[in-house]
Amino acid sequence: MDLRARLTRLLGAENLKFSAEDTARYLTDHRRLYTGKALAVAMPRDVPQVSALLAWCNDAGIGVVPQGGNTGYCGGATPDESGTQVVLSLERLARIRSVDADAQTMVAEAGCVLAQVQGAAASAGCLFPLSLGSEGSCQIGGNLATNAGGTAVLRYGMTRDLTLGLEAVLADGSVVSNLSGLRKDNTGYDLTGLLVGSEGTLGVITAACLKLYPQPRSRACAWIALRDARAAVELLAGLRGALGDRVTTCELVPHVALELVLRHIPEARDPGLSPAAWYLLVEVTAVEEADLDASLERVLAAAAERGIVLDAALARSERQREDFWRLRESVPEAQRAAGGSLKHDVSVPVARVPELIERGAAHVATLAPEGFLVAYGHAGDGNLHFNVNQRPGADAAAFRSRESALKRAIHDLVAEMGGSFSAEHGIGRLKVEELERYAAPSELAAMRAIKHALDPRGILNPGKVLRAARERP
Ligand SMILES: Cc1cc2nc3c(=O)[nH]c(=O)nc-3n(C[C@H](O)[C@H](O)[C@H](O)COP(=O)(O)OP(=O)(O)OC[C@H]3O[C@@H](n4cnc5c(N)ncnc54)[C@H](O)[C@@H]3O)c2cc1C
Repeated sequence: MDLRARLTRLLGAENLKFSAEDTARYLTDHRRLYTGKALAVAMPRDVPQVSALLAWCNDAGIGVVPQGGNTGYCGGATPDESGTQVVLSLERLARIRSVDADAQTMVAEAGCVLAQVQGAAASAGCLFPLSLGSEGSCQIGGNLATNAGGTAVLRYGMTRDLTLGLEAVLADGSVVSNLSGLRKDNTGYDLTGLLVGSEGTLGVITAACLKLYPQPRSRACAWIALRDARAAVELLAGLRGALGDRVTTCELVPHVALELVLRHIPEARDPGLSPAAWYLLVEVTAVEEADLDASLERVLAAAAERGIVLDAALARSERQREDFWRLRESVPEAQRAAGGSLKHDVSVPVARVPELIERGAAHVATLAPEGFLVAYGHAGDGNLHFNVNQRPGADAAAFRSRESALKRAIHDLVAEMGGSFSAEHGIGRLKVEELERYAAPSELAAMRAIKHALDPRGILNPGKVLRAARERP
């Protein structure tokens, strides 16, 4: 019996897709960097089916590529070109199993779309604070597998910080489960911490117990024109000094990105500030009733007196707040509409963000003259999407040919500055060689030992994060 017939006997035809037409959308990544082939796309309906599939693939030595919403930026959810791997889509495991408003916890299955998780928390009067531009299509399982960051990391942390426990299926089909919601549990190794961020290479996450928070009752949001990029760091320090961890969001947007958004996104509205090279989107929140507009205004007025802030607009309505957020969230879409771009997702210590911009911009000018810098993002976390867009009319092939020299220069710079070449998007397939280059040999050896211990036959997401020994040069 051929492999497809055996798979069909295992899972049932209704839980498998084989045809080119049915599988196409699972075979290309969001950025269209990779298109693979697959033996099948499996869509199990429950944990026993995931377990049976993995046990069978492990016995047969068949690679399994877990896939959530397929919004990842590093090609981690795309199968290779061999046509021998199975894509395991989690989209049918999409139940919110429980919400406990008193304990401030929720158990959600991996295939729940992030917006669904946020909505379930809100219906119970709680907040699940993870928030990303892709929240309408990424899945909580994908967020966990990539340890996603987003726009509220400053206040609530990364996905790992929001996770109390996981249920996951290991390579041999065995199930590990820790969904009790305990806040204190020091019993042995932290498998949850290990599986979060493992990008489908150590196990398939099927459900998670997530932390919830009280819904904020007060909120203030401002779009702020800055003296320069250094002013962002100074203003953030002032905000945190005055408002503590009420400061929830601190996103940096350069003028060049604002221009792209206003040009390419029809719904975008110009906030109408005096022009500046850099803007910050700041949001502060509190669980109690508080006049946060007044608090934020005071900090901004003091910063204006010191020349840090040139101009600012406070959102006076929910609509205006949404307008400010649209400007920030639309940068990736506007960049795509404007043409090709070379992307780097890097982080450095927060205080060194301005230095990264200055030194990185010099590399862009010399190494990619057909491009212009669009560095934006989570400045409050020291994380910038250090992207370079093709200049209008520039030669596309010449621009693309700059990719590897520019990547090396930016990643070397970040390493020298004590930063990371992958702040929040992970390694996937795209950055495997970068991990080999920048991780310490002792770290790489430990990662390989963990991979071998949990997945000795190397069936889980082969070629992602780490290369198998036989594939290394
Ligand atoms: C417009 C836009 C904005 C974005 N903004 C951000 C941002 O602010 N911060 C950020 O961190 N990312 C951001 N991203 C990237 C992306 O949305 C996140 O990485 C997200 O967490 C991926 O979730 P997903 O469900 O789409 O995962 P996928 O892309 O399907 O998979 C990502 C990786 O996780 C693995 N995986 C998926 N599900 C499971 C599972 N259940 N068990 C085991 N492994 C699994 C896959 O094999 C793959 O390696 C953005 C993307 C877009 C398109």
